[in-house]
Amino acid sequence: MTSEFEHGAAFVDGELVPIERAKISLVDTGFSRSDVTYDVVAVWDGAFFRLDDHLDRFERSCRMLRLTPPYDRAEMTRILLDLARVSGLREAYVEMLCTRGVARHGSRDPRTFENRFYAYAIPYVWLLRPEQAEMGMDAVITRTVRRIPTSSVDPTVKNFHWGDLTRGLFEAYDRGAHYPILLDRDDNITEGAGYNLFALVGQRLLTPAGGALEGITRRTVLELAAEEGIEAVAVDLSESTFRTATEAFATSTAGGVMPITSLDGRPVGDGRVGATTRLIRERYWQAHKDPRYLTPVDYPA
Ligand SMILES: *Cc1c(COP(=O)(O)O)cnc(C)c1O
Repeated sequence: MTSEFEHGAAFVDGELVPIERAKISLVDTGFSRSDVTYDVVAVWDGAFFRLDDHLDRFERSCRMLRLTPPYDRAEMTRILLDLARVSGLREAYVEMLCTRGVARHGSRDPRTFENRFYAYAIPYVWLLRPEQAEMGMDAVITRTVRRIPTSSVDPTVKNFHWGDLTRGLFEAYDRGAHYPILLDRDDNITEGAGYNLFALVGQRLLTPAGGALEGITRRTVLELAAEEGIEAVAVDLSESTFRTATEAFATSTAGGVMPITSLDGRPVGDGRVGATTRLIRERYWQAHKDPRYLTPVDYPA
């Protein structure tokens, strides 16, 4: 049986609509000013993974930007579950957004805008497809662009200020690779185009302490590493230290734990997926069966 929601479902202006029909206003400042925050949570094997952690982060992001979604936590949870349910997708990429919204009475004062909430569920998105996982990511440390300073745009609030990340993507492609890694002004590693970073240096797994989104996948990796007795720490991670890594990987809800096997055209370690990366990756997908992380979707029979 096919349904009009089979390619995905969206929640716009209080209604569930097929993804192809989801449209927003041209005068919504989420679009015209990037005045928006968002979050992305995965549905895996019919259940949301760490839904409450994503909603906590989303609500914090809204507070930081002084946005007030027109729905409370219970209503947003219901909307996200409904989107997964009507789409029928058992592996989905589910995004929620809150925009400053639209001006009332023609005022440009952001305090007076009507904030809006949108959400949608589409088939799961892979930043690195599973069949490419053995090959790993080909990353570059970008030379032409640095991460927007944290004093200008707070990277711990998930945002649409992707100018630097998009420039990074173009540089990566121009250099025959696909995955940019951006530095801050002090030559520390920050993050990439929608992913956090880890490096195995000696026996320790290192990830940047600041300058990046506090990814839920990153948090999961820190927790799983601790369970495995691997020392994993958030530090100021310099470019030169990152270059000494014997293993590296990127993390994102869209793809999980993704090995980085080449950096600036040179192999990372021996250029193959290393044992620690492999272990963390396996544990990451096993965690998707762990009930303490899961919120099952009530699909129709
Ligand atoms: C979403 C995102 C990540 C990854 O966060 P997860 O919660 O693990 O999906 C990393 N960096 C940026 C810039 C992001 O937007």
